[in-house]
Amino acid sequence: MNYQRSSQLFHEAQQFIPGGVNSPVRAFKAVGGNPIYVKQAQGAYLYDEDGNKYIDYINSWGPMILGHAYPSVINVIVEKAKLGTSFGTPTEMETEIAKLAISMVPNIDKIRFVSSGTEACMSAIRLARGYTKKEKIIKFSGCYHGHSDSFLIAAGSGASTFGVPNSPGVTQGTAKDTLLANYNDIDNVKQLFLENKGEIAAIIIEPVAGNMGCVPPKDNFLQELKTICIQNEALLIFDEVMTGFRLARGGAQELYNVDADIVCFGKVIGGGLPVGAFAARNEIMNYLSPIGPVYQAGTLSGNPLAMAAGYATLKQLNDNPNIFESINNKTAYLHKGIDRVLQKSGIDFTINRVGSMISVHFDKAPVVDFNTAKNGDNDTFKKFFHGLLQEGIYIAPSAYETWFITEALTYQDLDYTISAIEKVSKTL
Ligand code: PMP
Repeated sequence: MNYQRSSQLFHEAQQFIPGGVNSPVRAFKAVGGNPIYVKQAQGAYLYDEDGNKYIDYINSWGPMILGHAYPSVINVIVEKAKLGTSFGTPTEMETEIAKLAISMVPNIDKIRFVSSGTEACMSAIRLARGYTKKEKIIKFSGCYHGHSDSFLIAAGSGASTFGVPNSPGVTQGTAKDTLLANYNDIDNVKQLFLENKGEIAAIIIEPVAGNMGCVPPKDNFLQELKTICIQNEALLIFDEVMTGFRLARGGAQELYNVDADIVCFGKVIGGGLPVGAFAARNEIMNYLSPIGPVYQAGTLSGNPLAMAAGYATLKQLNDNPNIFESINNKTAYLHKGIDRVLQKSGIDFTINRVGSMISVHFDKAPVVDFNTAKNGDNDTFKKFFHGLLQEGIYIAPSAYETWFITEALTYQDLDYTISAIEKVSKTL
């Protein structure tokens, strides 16, 4: 494949944008080489500036669950844009999407919309702190909740990829209020509550971790967290930015039958436009400004185009819940196929999957937390990534990421992908 124009564009961008990108993992730094510049996307495919076509397993890092340029989403964006792009006043569509989201997700009475997953998680912990009148939070190593200060402590995703999980610029004062636990380690959490009695406002967790590759919660882990929170009058925050409206209509809460106290959303809820949200029962949400004391705001929050794109996406999922089963089946098929061809190749690997989130780690030991995720062989991953790119398959340019499956993928695409992986596995 020829990447000449992408390389030129990246070269120019680096003079004007730090590292040439507006979000670090896009830079291909972990795998080497230059990023591809995408010109257009349709269904399950990306088309770059050099005219190359790729089957897309990133899907904008999760939002494009229905596929790129999905007609009902695009049409409503175009129609709404003709009426104006931002008013700074309430609009009817905000209530419509709120009603729809609340009807789909268990255990929430009210929802507030923001413009990113980062804002959703940042606001959720402020609300939890305000509501409980306590200051500390527990987060899990390898989980990523956006780039706000409290979360850049042993964070996954790009922060792990670039080896700066503890970012300069985060003050000691902030860092001391974030307690760290190992994912899937309930004793570790109990210990933290013992050591910080009466001081912990909330536990925040990705109910299925997706930012150290895909790491499922062990049996009863989420349920036990809930019990500990009840015993200690702390709140359980599910960061469902990846899992929400993807693993099930009601996300991970529905899948694992665990009620969180606050739920954060992003990605799918915006249908590809910049949207995040957080939601909870009335008694918690009524703590928010303008009716409660916890302040939170946004000039572009509830933006009319973003709300319309999100509504069209959620509506499609709500009216056709078989989509969840369909993407799960496609991902299971892919899982089985990759497993078969990698077994034949004799390489050490582990595949983790929950529903339509899947990742391949190049290590044979089970991947259950950040430490085991870090054991993966990165050199093999780099070759795997570039081999697949050459075959027209776009996976995330880091081993610490999950692949997101879209309904637009066909079984033909999956068969092609599996045979490409077989071909590439011979070169590893
Ligand atoms: N939480 C999780 C679980 C995420 O995966 C991400 C982003 N990948 C975020 C929060 C932050 O979302 P955003 O990038 O929209 O700020």
